[in-house]
Amino acid sequence: AFHGYNSHFKLVLLCTTVSGGGLLAYGEAVAQSEAAVVKEEKKKVVVLGTGWAGTSFLKNLDNPRYEVHVVSPRNYFAFTPLLPSVTCGTVEARSIVEPVRNFFRKKNVKVDFSEAECLKIDAANRKVYCRSSISNNSNEKDEFVVDYDFLIIAVGANVNTFNTPGVAENCHFLKEVEDAQKIRRTVIDCFERASLPSVSQEEKKRILHFAIVGGGPTGVEFAASLHDFVNEDLVKLYPGIKDLVRITLLEAGEHILSMFDKRITSFAEDKFRRDGIDVKTGSMVVKVSDKEISTKEMKNGGEITTIPYGMAVWSTGIGTRPFIKDFMAQIGQINRRAVATDEWLRVEGTNNVYALGDCATINQRKVMEDIAAIFKKADKDNSGTLTVKEFQEVLNDICERYPQVELYLKTRQMNDIADLLKEAKGDVEKESIELNIEELKTALSKVDSQMKFLPATAQVASQQGTYLAKCFNRMEECEKNPEGPIRFREEGRHRFKPFRYKHFGQFAPLGGEQAAAQLPGDWVSIGHSTQWLWYSVYASKQVSWRTRALVVTDWTRRFIFGRDSSQI
Ligand code: FAD
Repeated sequence: AFHGYNSHFKLVLLCTTVSGGGLLAYGEAVAQSEAAVVKEEKKKVVVLGTGWAGTSFLKNLDNPRYEVHVVSPRNYFAFTPLLPSVTCGTVEARSIVEPVRNFFRKKNVKVDFSEAECLKIDAANRKVYCRSSISNNSNEKDEFVVDYDFLIIAVGANVNTFNTPGVAENCHFLKEVEDAQKIRRTVIDCFERASLPSVSQEEKKRILHFAIVGGGPTGVEFAASLHDFVNEDLVKLYPGIKDLVRITLLEAGEHILSMFDKRITSFAEDKFRRDGIDVKTGSMVVKVSDKEISTKEMKNGGEITTIPYGMAVWSTGIGTRPFIKDFMAQIGQINRRAVATDEWLRVEGTNNVYALGDCATINQRKVMEDIAAIFKKADKDNSGTLTVKEFQEVLNDICERYPQVELYLKTRQMNDIADLLKEAKGDVEKESIELNIEELKTALSKVDSQMKFLPATAQVASQQGTYLAKCFNRMEECEKNPEGPIRFREEGRHRFKPFRYKHFGQFAPLGGEQAAAQLPGDWVSIGHSTQWLWYSVYASKQVSWRTRALVVTDWTRRFIFGRDSSQI
């Protein structure tokens, strides 16, 4: 098309010299209309969100055929795995953020950015309704509408309070950079308030009680960071009150870090106990007032107890953003936690909307169909039964396709599949016993309902962004040449491969320069050397050399001078 434009441009020049102004006007009109065609040909892609999924899509999109409009309430990308380090000043907030405009500054794709939040998606008319994040001179926020040919939803998730009374009003969350900065200021505030001469001893104890709700990776890492901050830095500055400090980690389940290998879970629980962090498992928070947390103690027959606290951090999981719920209702996806997509990340019930990252989930019905097909293939004699050995092969096949199943089975110590077999057929002793496929499927679907096929992690979100950008880069080629080597279709010989997640392992920093890592191949590593592995992985994963330099400088500064406890 650009060649066409050039030749008309040459024609205009020729006409000008030969025939004068009238022809020039005609030639210009032709050139303009062609330019309009060129413009029209560009497909409008609207990307909602500049987190892990959105930015990895943008970084990898390199087809000038698209005209991209990014809408996000923040004009930066935040490296969320280092947020717990920001809460205690180990790393500065500015060191973990990168302006998103830096990602598309040198791109051959036209990208516009609006610092705004999406309020509503109108799927039928292909429009998104947005509101600016910045107020105008009349203290109002501008609203505008953006059309799209393709919509990429990568808006992440909300914190989930499970409608627990008082949580929204009284607890801190740890989701955004602002949350981490607020926590840092509140920790120092608590120490300063407890140092006032007017405050009673009992009140000092309450103020210096830090409660963390949720024993997942974020809650555990924050508890460890806070413990280090208090014991390595604050005790020196507040010697009079240091003995009054208490950190409690409340977890409703039986163990903290339950998604990790059992060895990591028990190491973490033992280490926290040795460090003096009070780990209360089987303790479900039912209400939070401004000074007290009420918990239901599972181990004591559901008895309700109250604990006075000074600062509470709520870190129990993620929920759906309201405008995403509204969008799901429009397309008939009701009563779901996240937007269901097919394995090509296209939202079910639409043909031009894609969802990725924490706000999306690959439809489990499809996954179960897949699993059923694997069972069918294994049942060679069509008897409806499998031997233990055949079943083990089936499980291997499933785990290969869905690494998360493997992770789940391993973390629950079920890799010997005994529990699953027991569930399917009572106590199984003999290898040769035949197992009923339907019973096995029921047992597996219980595993399925307890786990999400893909965890809500940065790893998943960024892999999905990269995958989708690669599909978009080739889409034109596939449309022009549908019988060619690659087709962007759901069916056919040469369709794109569906999205496959590659699990590279996960870390759990435990404080005191120790960390745990669960890596592919059932490899578990715990201790000081793992902490160094953590430093190198997170330094290498930084999104720019600028943030990499800042983060490494912050770590060095902390080693030499300790953490800064001023209230700025
Ligand atoms: P996000 O990264 O949350 O991005 C969502 C984007 O959407 C943001 O830019 C947001 O501003 C934007 N947005 C929100 N609302 C709107 C709207 N209405 N309109 C337009 N845009 C909107 N994962 C790991 O793999 N390893 C870790 O070590 C790890 N540690 C973590 C530590 C913490 C403290 C937290 C909170 C998370 C951690 N995670 C980790 C999880 C990881 O951060 C998420 O899974 C990941 O951020 C999901 O990416 P996303 O792009 O879906 O969402």
